[in-house]
Order: sequence, then structure tokens, then C-alpha cells
Amino acid sequence: MASILVVEDDQAIAQMIKLILGKHNHQLRHVSNGEEALQIINENTPDLIISDVMMPGLNGFGLAEQLQKANETRSIPIIFVTALSQIEYVSHGLNLGAVDYLTKPFRALELEARVNAALRLKFAQDDLRKANAQLNELALIDSLTELHNFRYASEFLGQALSHAARYYEPLSAMMIDLDYFKKVNDTYGHLTGNEILKELAAILKTQARQADVVCRYGGEEFLIICPKNSKENSVAMAERIRNTVGGHKFPHIGWSLTVSLGVGTYDPQRDTSAETFIARVDAALYQAKNSGRNRVCEAS
Ligand SMILES: [Mg+2]
Repeated sequence: MASILVVEDDQAIAQMIKLILGKHNHQLRHVSNGEEALQIINENTPDLIISDVMMPGLNGFGLAEQLQKANETRSIPIIFVTALSQIEYVSHGLNLGAVDYLTKPFRALELEARVNAALRLKFAQDDLRKANAQLNELALIDSLTELHNFRYASEFLGQALSHAARYYEPLSAMMIDLDYFKKVNDTYGHLTGNEILKELAAILKTQARQADVVCRYGGEEFLIICPKNSKENSVAMAERIRNTVGGHKFPHIGWSLTVSLGVGTYDPQRDTSAETFIARVDAALYQAKNSGRNRVCEAS
């Protein structure tokens, strides 16, 4: 069942179209010109528009032009059904984005078949769009922890940095690494290791603010990007995370683990790119690791 909008100023023809398509269980609505069509489309997007061309007010071609202008309406298929049979009109209508063009008088069987074909295409495209959106989402999410992944982190950081530079807002980031994770994996196996990473991810999420973006950067390394967060606040947040993880007993192994953290605040003068900024934060993490772990080090 599809929702079809019939745009036709000739009541008799509109009735006929409704009669022909009525047996297919479609939800049919009828308006008499382009303006009325736009109004109705705004409230409820149809799966297909069957439109006359010559109508008082906004005609069929004008309607198609309007629909092409907005993202939400561009993909609604239109079939023109019109007495304008010259090839110039047909070509113009199709160039405006119509999927089909039928000239009056038309035969019922042909209208039915063309409507069915247009709907099949429309629904296949809808499915494809949905699948694409899901793939995009998947490509940006780490499947184990369900946090954002490295790719998303890189994209987000690039945008967040230019925003921070433009509006003179602070932006901080912290790199978090689970201490002695290799030992956990070697002792308990990778499945347990994975459970620990999932649990750590959950802790990081609860510790982060709404605006922060928590990512799994790779392996047992996590990155939290904190827009509008000052140096002092982010260092305090890092300490909070260190304490929370240190005080958490991981049920899969029966005791707590520690994390090392590197924290940095973006400096547009020094950090010429996202990469140089992250390199500073990473160096701070390295320092935390090297100076005994279970600590927070600030980027210099
Ligand atoms: Mg007409």
C-alpha cells in the first residue's frame, strides 16, 4: 500500500485515476493545483505524485521545480499525466525530474503499470537509502564498545577544532589507556579482555559530559574530545576518570584496573592541525605511562 497524491484540476479525470488505482488499496489524496499539493506534501509526504501539467495557479511543471528545491521532497517521484503530448513538453517534464510522462487520453492498464513501476523503484530506493544510512553509522561506530571509532574521532575533531578557533572557545582532549591490559588478555583470554574494554567504555561514557565525544581510538586506547572545556576542568575530569576506574571492581576478573591519561588543551597558535594537537596529547599519555602509570599527565 502506498500513499499517492493526485494533482488534477479536471474533476472527472481525477475521479477516473482514483477509480483505476483504487483497487490496489493505495491511500489516494486529490488536490486541484500545485499550491494545494505543496501544502499537503508538507504535512504528509506521499510515495508518488500523479500530476496534471495545465492547472490554474501553480502548474505541474512549477510544482516539480518547487519539489526539486528541497532535500525532503526531491526524491518524491512524479508521473505527469497531461494532454500536452508534443515531444518538447515530454522532454521538459522528464528533465524536471519526473519519472514518467503519460499523455491523455491514457489507458487504465497503462496507468496502473506505470504507477506500479514507479512505486517499485521508489521503494527500492528507500530501502537503499536506509541501508546506506545504516552502513554509514556502522562505519563510524566501534562494534565492540559501541563508542565512536577512530574515523569518527578524526572527522569530529577536525570540525571541533575549527569551531573552537573561530569562536575563541577552549577545547580539550584526553587520551586514556588501560594499564597492563596485555596481562589481562594473556591471563584471562581475549573474550574477557573484550568484556573489560566494554565495561571501561561504559565508565567513560558516564564520566563524560553531554557534549563530549567518547571514542575508542584503537586497542585499549580511548579518546575523549571535550568541546568548550578548559584545561583545568579537563584535568579535573581526567583525575575523576582515573579515580573511578581505579575504584571499580571488574567482575570478570574480580579486581580493579588502572588507567593512564594524557590531557591537552587546543592551542591554535601551536596546534596547526588536528594531528599535531593529538600528537601532544599522545605524548602526555606516553609520559604518564613511562612515569609509572595510573596517573594524569598534562600536555606540554
Ligand atoms: Mg488541467
